[in-house]
Amino acid sequence: MPAEVCDEDCDFAVVGGGIFGSVVAACLRRAFPREFTVVVDDGAPGAGSPPAACLMKPGWLSGLDRREYDSAVGLLRELYSTEWLDFRVGTSVTRGWLLEKIERLPPSRFVLRTTPELTFPDYNFKFLVGRVLGFAANDALLVEREDLRTTLKVRRATVFCTGVFNPAPKWFSGLEVRPLWGASFLHAGAPRHNEVRLWAPYRQLVGFSTQVGGPTWVGDGSSIIEKNWGAEKLAASRERCGDFARQLGAGDEAEVRVGARPYVKSKRGLLRQLHGNVWYCTGGAKNGTVLSAVLARELVGKLGGKL
Ligand SMILES: Cc1cc2nc3c(=O)[nH]c(=O)nc-3n(C[C@H](O)[C@H](O)[C@H](O)COP(=O)(O)OP(=O)(O)OC[C@H]3O[C@@H](n4cnc5c(N)ncnc54)[C@H](O)[C@@H]3O)c2cc1C
Repeated sequence: MPAEVCDEDCDFAVVGGGIFGSVVAACLRRAFPREFTVVVDDGAPGAGSPPAACLMKPGWLSGLDRREYDSAVGLLRELYSTEWLDFRVGTSVTRGWLLEKIERLPPSRFVLRTTPELTFPDYNFKFLVGRVLGFAANDALLVEREDLRTTLKVRRATVFCTGVFNPAPKWFSGLEVRPLWGASFLHAGAPRHNEVRLWAPYRQLVGFSTQVGGPTWVGDGSSIIEKNWGAEKLAASRERCGDFARQLGAGDEAEVRVGARPYVKSKRGLLRQLHGNVWYCTGGAKNGTVLSAVLARELVGKLGGKL
């Protein structure tokens, strides 16, 4: 049972270091460079971001117009590193963005997995591995970390980017986030080419090289409601993706990543002021990468900043 209490403070706290939390934190850092931002993430199994390919394509998004899409992609390109990828689709070629370095730059949940605490003084920035349990007095956050309970006093704003996880129903009443489950498979070998192939109406297999020489990311776009998701569905997805990977020449062995996409009513995701200086920002469904930038820009504006 955690015993010790140690207090910290910050200007901005971001709860959740998935794609939304990472992009929100990066935007806060950019808009308010003098303010200190802390990201807290508990590495929960089933988060949506670890299996994601971070691919973006305008045609995938009906909730955004082209101007908003381009502006969001422009912002992501300034914050991270993006790359055009060509995919074979039947006999033609289509292009999509790949946000390739979201994993490597701070802030990122993937960094968090390896170490309990990381400070980036040049960025005025810190990651903590921990679970936010609720609020202590004065909107400070109560954070459980290994054998510690700490409070994190927040001067300007707290932003919950918690995906399908609802830390406490009473804070989030009326905010419906539906988890739709899926998986991706990382095959060790390199593909002969990148490809998108229909396997059922509106269902696409996607296989592409994440870097020269492999590995190959493969997914089938399955998005399955919680009560229907399980070992059988995962095995079917694995078989489908495995066959595809073999046809692409990417080999048999695969690392399996399972996660839930956060779906909300609006196709544009959900940004809401819960109360005072507490915000909620999530709901990427299948397009979390570009929507995170749309909402992060909006949030920064509401907090009086400019990107
Ligand atoms: C197989 C698959 C492929 C996908 N491919 C793409 C793609 O190519 N392009 C695209 O744009 N989107 C893709 N997506 C969708 C995308 O992954 C989601 O839209 C996105 O990950 C949602 O991000 P998030 O940050 O809101 O949620 P999450 O990634 O779930 O992050 C929430 C984080 O909050 C943390 N957390 C929750 N509660 C607490 C708490 N109390 N205290 C501390 N931490 C907490 C969790 O540990 C988690 O890390 C894909 C999804 C899947 C499953």
